[in-house]
Amino acid sequence: MNTTPPATSNFIKTIIEEDLRLGKFNGRVVTRFPPEPNGYLHIGHAKSICLNFGLAREFNGTCHLRFDDTNPIKEEVEYVESIQRDVRWLGFDWNDKLFYASDYFLKLHDYAVELIRRGKAYVCSLDAEQIREYRGTLTTPGKDSPYRDRGVAENLDLFARMRAGEFEEGEHVLRAKIDMASSNVVMRDPVIYRIKKAAHHRTGDVWCIYPMYDFAHCLSDSIEGITHSICTLEFENNRPLYHWILDALETPCHPEQIEFARLNLSYTVISKRKLIQLVRDKIVSGWDDPRMPTISGLRRRGVPPEAIRDFCDRIGVARADSMVDIALLEHCIREDLNARAPRVMAVLRPLKVVITNYPEGQIEELEAPLHPEKADMGTRMIPFSRDLYIEQDDFMEDPPKKFYRLAPGREVRLRYGYYITCRDVIKDAQGRIVELRCVYDPASRGGGTPDNRKVKATLHWVSAAQARPAEVRTYNHLFTVQNPNETLEGQDFRGFVNPDSLEVLSNCLVEPHLALAESGSRWQFERLGYYSVDSVDSTPGALVFNRIVSLRDSWAKIQASEKKTAGG
Ligand code: ATP
Ligand code: MG
Repeated sequence: MNTTPPATSNFIKTIIEEDLRLGKFNGRVVTRFPPEPNGYLHIGHAKSICLNFGLAREFNGTCHLRFDDTNPIKEEVEYVESIQRDVRWLGFDWNDKLFYASDYFLKLHDYAVELIRRGKAYVCSLDAEQIREYRGTLTTPGKDSPYRDRGVAENLDLFARMRAGEFEEGEHVLRAKIDMASSNVVMRDPVIYRIKKAAHHRTGDVWCIYPMYDFAHCLSDSIEGITHSICTLEFENNRPLYHWILDALETPCHPEQIEFARLNLSYTVISKRKLIQLVRDKIVSGWDDPRMPTISGLRRRGVPPEAIRDFCDRIGVARADSMVDIALLEHCIREDLNARAPRVMAVLRPLKVVITNYPEGQIEELEAPLHPEKADMGTRMIPFSRDLYIEQDDFMEDPPKKFYRLAPGREVRLRYGYYITCRDVIKDAQGRIVELRCVYDPASRGGGTPDNRKVKATLHWVSAAQARPAEVRTYNHLFTVQNPNETLEGQDFRGFVNPDSLEVLSNCLVEPHLALAESGSRWQFERLGYYSVDSVDSTPGALVFNRIVSLRDSWAKIQASEKKTAGG
C-alpha cells in the first residue's frame, strides 16, 4: 500500500524544468492525452489526464487530446463522445487541440513508403504463426525472415497492392528492418502495417491497411509537435522503437518519451478490458454504475471532480508500480464534501416515535444551519411535530453497556429539536418493535435545558407528515479482495465481485428541504455520510440518493496508527 504523503514535485517536472533550462524544444511544452476510444475512461486515466494537462498548465504549454484510433475493430463513436465529456468534467480543456490518429492515415502511409525507400522497411509474407516463431524468445535471438532482403521496388509494389486491397488479411505485413538479434524483442523487425478489411468509425472504407500502435504513436506525436510524450511503464521496452522510427525518418520534431507507473487501486480493477467484461456480463448496470471506477461512474455516484484532482495530486507520479489504497480516494472525497456539502437529516430505516405530550396537529418550524462552519450557506426550516421517525438502530430495548442512544426510560436529544424520553415500546403480533411512545421536555427547544441536564446522545430524525420518501443506494467495494487482478490460477477476477456491493433501501425518509434538491446535488446526511441525488433515476416525486462515502474515515485512521508505530 502506498501511504506516503503527497509529493509536490515529481521526476517528470524535474525533467521538463531541466529541458527548459537547456532551451530544448525552444522552451515549448506540449503534452498529449492519447486515449484509445475502446471504452470509457477510468480513474487511472484521470491520473494521466491530470498529469498531462497539469504539466501544460504549469509550464504555460498546451495539452492535446488525441484519439489513438488506429484499430478499426474495437473503437466506437460512443466512446469518443464519453471521453470528451469526461475530460471536460474533470476540469480540463484542450481548446482547439483535438486530434485523431486516423486523421494522419495518409501521412502515416507516406511515412511508411518513405521508410521502404530508405531501405528500412520490407513487406514480409510469413504468416502470423511463422512471424512469432522467427521472433525468438527473451533468451534466444530471432531469425531473419526469408523476405527481409526484398528490394525497394518490390517492397513498394507489394505495399501499394496491400493498400489497394489485392491481398487478404495476414497474407503480407510491412515490417521495420531493425535487428532480429536485438536483446529487446520489440526491436526484432516489428510489424508496422497490417491488412485489416474493416470499416473505421471515421475513415469508413477508405483504408484496408492500418498502422500498428508503435508506428502511429511516435509519428502522431511528431506531427503534432509534442515535446514530452508521457506514457505508462509498460511502454518502456518500446521506447527504443519510438526513437528508431523518428530517427529513421529524420522527422523535424522528435519528442521525448517518459514513462511513469500506472495507477492501481485496491478493491477494484482498472483496465478497460476488465471493466468492459463487468458491463457486458451485467455484473454492473453500465459504464456509469456508481460502483465502477470509471469517471462516469464516479460522477454519477456524486464524487466531485475536485476530489479526483486532489487524489491525483496526492498519489504523485513515480516510476515504481504500486497499489494505492482506495481509502485515500474516499478520504479526498470526504475532505472536499465536508467543506461544502450542506447538512440535512435523513432516516434510512425508520422507526416511528410518537411524542405523547406534544399537541396533536401542531407543527413548529425549527431553524437549522446548512453548514456548521459556513454561515453564508444559510439555514433551512425543519418541521417538528407529534409524529416523528428516528433510525431503527438508534433504539435498543435492552441496551448493552456502551449503547448510549435511546432505550426505555432514557433521555436523548433530537438534533435541532427537543430532549425526548422513551416511555413505552409498542410491538406487533410478531414481537417486532413498531413504535416508541416518548415524552418531550418543552423547555429543551433548540437542544439545551435550563438546568443544563446532560444527555449522552443526539439523534437525527424527521417529522412524519412532512418527510419525503426516498430510495437510498449504499455502495461498498466492488470486490472482496484488495487485489482482484492477482487471482490464483484458473480463477477469474469476476469470482471476487462483492455480492454486497449494492444495498438498496427503499423506505427511507428525508427532510422536506430535499424535496427540491437538484439532480446531482450533494448533501451530508447528518451522522450517516455524503449522498447525491441520482442523475438518472431520481425524480422530484420519487427521490433516489446514492451514498458517495460514509463519514467514517479509515484513511485518517491508517495515518494515525502509522504515526504511532513510527513513534511520531
Ligand atoms: P487499459 O489498460 O485500461 O485499457 P490503456 O492504457 O490501454 O488502458 P489508453 O486509452 O491507451 O488505455 O490510455 C490512454 C492513456 O491513459 C495512456 O497514456 C495510458 O498510459 C494512460 N493510462 C491508462 N491506464 C492508466 C492507469 N491505470 N494509470 C495511469 N495512466 C493510465
Ligand atoms: Mg492502450
